[in-house]
Amino acid sequence: MHHNGDARIKRIHDKVADNVRLDEHDGICILQSNEILPLGMMADEARRMKTGNYVTFVNNYHICFTNICKNHCFHCRFRRDKGADDAFLMTMRQIKEKAEEAKELAVPEVLLMGGVHPDLKFDFYLEAVKTIKQTVGDVLILAYSAVEIKHFSELEQTDPKEILAILKDAGLTAFTGGGMDLLDDSYITKLKCDPGRLDSEKWIYIHKEAHKIGIATNACMIYGVGESPGEVVANLAKLRAIQDETNGFTHFFQYGYGEDGQKMTDGLYDLKMLILARLYLDNFDHIRVYWGYTGKRFAQISLHFGVDDLNGVMQKGRIIHTTGNISPSFSSGDEMKKIITSAGRVPAERDILFNKVRIFD
Ligand code: SF4
Repeated sequence: MHHNGDARIKRIHDKVADNVRLDEHDGICILQSNEILPLGMMADEARRMKTGNYVTFVNNYHICFTNICKNHCFHCRFRRDKGADDAFLMTMRQIKEKAEEAKELAVPEVLLMGGVHPDLKFDFYLEAVKTIKQTVGDVLILAYSAVEIKHFSELEQTDPKEILAILKDAGLTAFTGGGMDLLDDSYITKLKCDPGRLDSEKWIYIHKEAHKIGIATNACMIYGVGESPGEVVANLAKLRAIQDETNGFTHFFQYGYGEDGQKMTDGLYDLKMLILARLYLDNFDHIRVYWGYTGKRFAQISLHFGVDDLNGVMQKGRIIHTTGNISPSFSSGDEMKKIITSAGRVPAERDILFNKVRIFD
C-alpha cells in the first residue's frame, strides 16, 4: 500500500496493520487528510477482517404508530403537531392488526416507531410492545430510543432502568441509538436540538443500563452541522469507551446533514466519516449505511470504505428517528442483493442482533 509520503497516514497504516488502537490525534488526521484511497483501503481491510465478505441487510416489518411528537429536533421531517392535517395515531386495535399482518408474513422481527406524543401515557407504549409480542409470538422487537425511554421515566417518575426492565419483560429486544450525536455537548447547540430531547449523560446512562440487562442498542450520529474534527473524534472516543465497558452496541451508523438541512454534505467528507468510524471504532463489528438515506449508489460505494451493512428491505416505509425522515423502501430484496453482488460481496439477511439468518451465495 502506498502512502505518498504522508507520515501521519503511514503511522495510521502501521497501527491498523499491527492492531494498535488509533488515538484521537489519528482520528483527527483521518478527517483532515485527502489521502482518501489509502485510508479507504485500510478501512476496507479492517472491515474484511471483522466481517469477511458478507454484506448484511434486514427484512423486517415496521409499525409506525404515530407521527405526533412534542419535540422539535431541527432536522426532523417526520414529526407533526397534534391536530395537524396529516398527524396520525393508531389505536391499540390497529397496532394489533398490523401485528397480525406481521405474523402472516412470518417476519422474524418487528420494528415499532413513533414520536414522543404529548398525551400518551407509558402504558400505551408498553401495551404496544406487549401486543406485538403476544400476537406474533416468537419475534424480536426493536422499539423506541433513549429519547423515549427518558420520556417514559419522566412520565412514570422513575429511573430509566426501571422502565428498561419493564420493557424487556414485555418483549423488547433492542432499541435504536438516536441522540448519540450529543455525547460531545458542543454538538447540542450546533444541532439546535430540542432541549427536552436528551443530554449526553442520559444517553450514556440509558444505553449502559440497557446493555447491563441484555437489551441491545446501536449508536447513531448526525454530522455536517459545523462540527470540528476534534468534536467528532471526541464523540467517537466516548462511544468507544462505552463499548469497551459493555459491548452492547450492535453497530454504528451516521447521517450527514448540511446546516441548511439538506442531506449529505460533501462526498469526500462522507467517505472519511465512514473510514473514521471503521478504523477508530475498533470494538464495533458493524458499520451501517442506510441506503434509503444516502441513495443506492453511495451506499454501494461505501461498501469499499468500511461499511458491511446496508440496513434493509422494508415491508413498510420506516422513519429514521434521528432525522425524522420517512425513507423509501426496496420492493424486494432482489435489488439489494444485486447491488451487493455487483460490489463483489455476498448478501446475507440478518436479524436485529446481526445474526445471519439467510446467506445468498
Ligand atoms: S427526531 Fe424523534 S424526537 Fe425529534 S422531533 Fe422527530 S420524532 Fe420527535
